[in-house]
Amino acid sequence: MVDFYQKLPKIELHAHLNGSLSNRALEELRELKYGTDRTKEGDDGFYKILNGQLLSLEECFQKFRYAHDLTDRRESLELATKRVVEEFARDNVVYLELRTTPKSTANMSKREYLITVLDVLRKVPEYQPSILVKLLPSIDRSKGVLEGEENVTLAIELAALYPGMIVGLDLSGNPFGTKFDDFVPSLRRARDHGFRLALHCGEFDDEQEVKEMFELGVDRIGHGTFITDIEFRSNAA
Ligand SMILES: [Zn+2]
Repeated sequence: MVDFYQKLPKIELHAHLNGSLSNRALEELRELKYGTDRTKEGDDGFYKILNGQLLSLEECFQKFRYAHDLTDRRESLELATKRVVEEFARDNVVYLELRTTPKSTANMSKREYLITVLDVLRKVPEYQPSILVKLLPSIDRSKGVLEGEENVTLAIELAALYPGMIVGLDLSGNPFGTKFDDFVPSLRRARDHGFRLALHCGEFDDEQEVKEMFELGVDRIGHGTFITDIEFRSNAA
C-alpha cells in the first residue's frame, strides 16, 4: 500500500521548509555545522529527539529549534532546500509549494536567506525535472507587523528578479497574543502585487478571526482545525 501511494503522482500544498527536513537531512546538517564528533557539542538531546519514536509537543518544537539553528548560514540553507526538494521528488510529488519565513541570522540577512532558497529552486528543473516547485515566503505572526511588512516588500522585490517563482504569501507562526487584523494591510499589499494568500486559519477557537480571514479572501487554508462547518459554508459561499 505504501508503495502504491509513493508511486502515485501528488501535489503538496502545505510544506514548511524547516518542518519538512527528514531526520537524515537534519543529521547531515548537524554534521556540516558541528562536525561528526557527537560528543564535541555536549549532549543537548539532538540525537535522542532524532531517534525518538513518539515525540511530545515540546520535543517537536525543540526539533524545529534544531532545524533553525542548523540552517543559519547560506551553505546549510542551500543543502536543506536541496534535500527537501529531492525527498519530495523521490515520493513522486510533482508540484510543491514550499513555505519559509525569511530569517536574519548572524550569517545572513533576510534578503540573502530568500535569495539562497530561490537560487536552489531556480536550478530544480536541471537536476530534478520531475517536480515543479514554487515558493511562498511566510509572515511569522509572532514576529510582529513590521517584520511582516518587511517580508512583503522583499517578496515583491524578489518576484521581479525571479519571475514566476513566488506564487503567494503565507501567514503562519504562533497566533496567540497577535491580532490578524493588524496584518491585513500587508496581506492586501501582497495581493495587489499578484500574490495569492495562504493563511493559517482557525488554529485556535476564534470565530471572529476566521470571519475576518474569509472576508479578506483566502486562497489556501492552513490547518483549519477550528473552522466549523457553518462558518465554512456561510463564508465560502
Ligand atoms: Zn503549517
